Amino acid sequence: MENWQIEQLHTLFPSERFFTSTADLYSYSFDASFGEYIPEVICQPLHVEEISTVVKKANEWKVPIYPRGSATSLSGGPLPVKGGIVLDMSQMKDTLTIDQENMIATVSPGVLTADIHRAAEEVGLFYPPDPSSALISTIGGNLLENSSGPKGLKYGTTKEYVIGLEVVTPTGEIVKTGGKTVKNVTGFDLTRLIVGSEGLLGIVTEATLRLIPKPQAQKTLLATFHSPVDCGKAITEVLRHGVLPAAMELMDNACIRAVEHFQPSGLPIDAGALLILEVDGTDVSTENEIGHCQTICEHAGAISVQVANNEEERAAIWKARKMVSPAVTELGPTKISEDATVPRGKIPEMMERLQEIRERYQLNLVVFGHAGDGNLHPNIITDKRNTEEMKRVEDAVSDIFETAVELGGTLSGEHGIGLLKAPYLEMEYGTAGVNLMKSIKHAWDPNHVLNPGKMFAEEGQTKVVLT
Ligand SMILES: Cc1cc2nc3c(=O)[nH]c(=O)nc-3n(C[C@H](O)[C@H](O)[C@H](O)COP(=O)(O)OP(=O)(O)OC[C@H]3O[C@@H](n4cnc5c(N)ncnc54)[C@H](O)[C@@H]3O)c2cc1C
Repeated sequence: MENWQIEQLHTLFPSERFFTSTADLYSYSFDASFGEYIPEVICQPLHVEEISTVVKKANEWKVPIYPRGSATSLSGGPLPVKGGIVLDMSQMKDTLTIDQENMIATVSPGVLTADIHRAAEEVGLFYPPDPSSALISTIGGNLLENSSGPKGLKYGTTKEYVIGLEVVTPTGEIVKTGGKTVKNVTGFDLTRLIVGSEGLLGIVTEATLRLIPKPQAQKTLLATFHSPVDCGKAITEVLRHGVLPAAMELMDNACIRAVEHFQPSGLPIDAGALLILEVDGTDVSTENEIGHCQTICEHAGAISVQVANNEEERAAIWKARKMVSPAVTELGPTKISEDATVPRGKIPEMMERLQEIRERYQLNLVVFGHAGDGNLHPNIITDKRNTEEMKRVEDAVSDIFETAVELGGTLSGEHGIGLLKAPYLEMEYGTAGVNLMKSIKHAWDPNHVLNPGKMFAEEGQTKVVLT
């Protein structure tokens, strides 16, 4: 950017919300994924009009503009890969209103997801999307990544709970989509197009979310198995017998060992896999369903099944799952976290294929994830300074994507395409599918100023380059 452009932008923001120092630019150069890209200026907007003005300037100057929430993206979504302006949306957080009568929440994009959970639950309501990053990620980031978590199996993803948006378009217009009604079939469903569009089709400045009644009771069990394949079979059997758990989380042996090494809590380190299963509903229905699930796990060959008898025991079971991310991070300085997702019935085969990939490339590969909806998280723990190993990681990542697509699955269940999966989009959708998406992007953003360098690969780029 030219100095005069930066100076002109500065006239729009007070100094405490406008940053250009080297230290500040570096602070905004990374997210939770991989790679560092330095922006040229950072603005922290508080009002929709400020955003509209900045976006119009960016179009006039053909300067890239990168919206960003808390930068917990695991796919490189907010990285300023072509420099330009970072719009830090995390400070736009003044609205969090619960309308009990209509069971909706109105939120600013910078509100943390966990604060929405808390506000809804205080009045007996429930906002189900529960990414593990809920304590630090913004609802804006969740909306644009269509995030979800363990509860996705029963309750679906963020998309299912968004009924209205206020958005600044890539050319700077302020538009509203949807509204406050649960039913709305007026015009094209722009809300659903924008949710999950990874900041390529607009900047979300307010959202209306649908809430549901909070379930009265929950029951949780922890089952261990000789192999991930047995565990996968138990998952399929539970669903085949008509129980829809609120969560079914799987951890493989490498993951169990990592957690036990990080914080010993008596997990069986010889078990091939561990399953955390939770049902919710009424006191009576949860009691019945958890008993049913226990029996199914035992018939599927579980080594042990432990049902939590109280809240303390339930918290202890979930602690194992919550420890995964910090525990895995301890195994090495670089973590490549994937979220290839397969149809549920293919979980046993996917687990076997991941084992083969681990052996073929001799990598530290651990697998955990939301197994009930087929959303596995193969994580490769490595060291980006080891260029020889990073080449093997690149090949292993390609193999993981190819395997998921071959099994009828998808490149991403929740982390998005962003920068890191862009070279593989065509593998899943073909040239015609990708061209259709590009034409939507071009129609909305003719100057390609909003989050450029994401979703669509650069000319000739066929695989992720990590070295
Ligand atoms: C430890 C850990 C656990 C995680 N667990 C989960 C999980 O269980 N499930 C899951 O789905 N994800 C998970 N994630 C990934 C990540 O937390 C989610 O993608 C989250 O929604 C990102 O929110 P954010 O506020 O950090 O957004 P960012 O990472 O800052 O941005 C994400 C994308 O949204 C765009 N964006 C952000 N705000 C706006 C806005 N207002 N308008 C337009 N575009 C915007 C950005 O340009 C970017 O493309 C995890 C990440 C970590 C580090």
